[in-house]
Amino acid sequence: MFWFKKEEVETDPVCNMKVVKEKAKYSEVYNGRTYYFCSADCKEQFTKEPKNFIA
Ligand SMILES: [Zn+2]
Repeated sequence: MFWFKKEEVETDPVCNMKVVKEKAKYSEVYNGRTYYFCSADCKEQFTKEPKNFIA
C-alpha cells in the first residue's frame, strides 16, 4: 500500500501501519486532529489511552 501519494495516507498511531484516508473505516478526532486506524481494535486502544500513542 505504499504506492499511494503521501497526502492520501495517514499513519495509524497504534500500530504504525499506513491507512488510506478514503478507505479508512476507523477514525477518531482527538484534540482537533483526526486519527485513522487499521482496525476497530487499534481504535479502541487509542480511545482508552490516547496519550500512549501520540507524542
Ligand atoms: Zn492498527
